[in-house]
Amino acid sequence: MFDAALASAVHRAEDHHGHIRQIEIVTDLFEGHYEAVTTVEEAFAGSLLGLGVAEAVDGEIVAFDGEVWCIPVDGIPVRAAGSLGLPFAVVAEGGEEIIEELPAGLTFEGVTAHIDHVLSLLDKHHDHLVAAVRIDGVFSDVLLRSEPGQTPPYKPLTEVLEHEVQFEFTAWTGTLVGFRFPDVNDGEVIPGLHLHALSLDRLSGGHCHRATVVNAVLHIWVDDVEITIPHPHLATVLGA
Ligand SMILES: [Zn+2]
Repeated sequence: MFDAALASAVHRAEDHHGHIRQIEIVTDLFEGHYEAVTTVEEAFAGSLLGLGVAEAVDGEIVAFDGEVWCIPVDGIPVRAAGSLGLPFAVVAEGGEEIIEELPAGLTFEGVTAHIDHVLSLLDKHHDHLVAAVRIDGVFSDVLLRSEPGQTPPYKPLTEVLEHEVQFEFTAWTGTLVGFRFPDVNDGEVIPGLHLHALSLDRLSGGHCHRATVVNAVLHIWVDDVEITIPHPHLATVLGA
């Protein structure tokens, strides 16, 4: 299982000075807790990059370059107000940056392998590392999604995502930001590579299902992780 404490310990030993904050655990989101536990301003102020979902799952959230955008179910990005509530967010605050040009033709799986290779050069415990990721460039075969906003009583996220709306692009230019978490299903973090997208023209975006690199630059920040669980009922569940 993913061990946040070990990830932190490994990270601190290497002294990369990065930090990732995750607000809420994934199990809570998947069970249908879509009430706000933080705000855009609180979660992303001063951050390097991040992703999340809006209150009532009314939009995918993507943050970088000091701007936070929300992509609702129509697929058209809008600037997120600082007061917008969020039930879930993952936020990176920086650290040692690695920049690499990505080979053309890399799919999501290829990008993941490339990131893992970079991490393996940094640390023998790389499968415990968490990395913040930003990829800017031109892509082909891009599939993005958002989902319809919900009203209480909330359904589980898997049911909501059965009605997700997909946006497909044969050619797409923009920025993907997110995280490479370890490949574990522990209910706390979203495993694997999780990226949210915003196009250069700010006319499309969303959660990124797939993308193939045409011409892109990868930025990686290796970070330690802190998970905040704002819901009191979870203290019992986790025995905390
Ligand atoms: Zn997502």
